[in-house]
Amino acid sequence: MSDSIFSKIIRNEIPCHRVYEDELTLAFLDINPIAPGHTLVVPKEPVATIDELSDESAAAIGRVLPRISRAVMRVSGATAINILQNNGSLAYQAVPHVHFHVIPKTDAHGLGIVWNAEALDEEAGAELGRKLARLL
Ligand code: 5GP
Repeated sequence: MSDSIFSKIIRNEIPCHRVYEDELTLAFLDINPIAPGHTLVVPKEPVATIDELSDESAAAIGRVLPRISRAVMRVSGATAINILQNNGSLAYQAVPHVHFHVIPKTDAHGLGIVWNAEALDEEAGAELGRKLARLL
């Protein structure tokens, strides 16, 4: 359980610019946007990271994300967006309540990414794939 600033926003104890709400989810404008229209989509379930999230909340988030993305694109005029979801402080998560950033990407604004990619080793990939599939 995580009682963060987002739980307070959900409970209406802290103001925000709400843009969408249903029984399981809430969307509101980020207080420090990296692009105009930068919106946060959160489950009302108070868990810190995505691995803790129930299937029910995950489904509710998945259902609304495309709709909210369409609205953000319409309002911002952006034809590209990034959806960013950080888990753990090492992964740049500052607020310990699951949230999805919907961030318009234009020439002037949006997310910058450093993508430290390396080619997947065939043997290691096969072993990793088997391990993951066993867990799933
Ligand atoms: P994170 O780094 O955890 O993925 O991102 C947290 C986001 O929450 C940041 O973009 C930050 O600007 C936003 N944020 C933090 N506190 C508040 C708040 O009180 N209200 C709103 N609307 N956004 C917040």
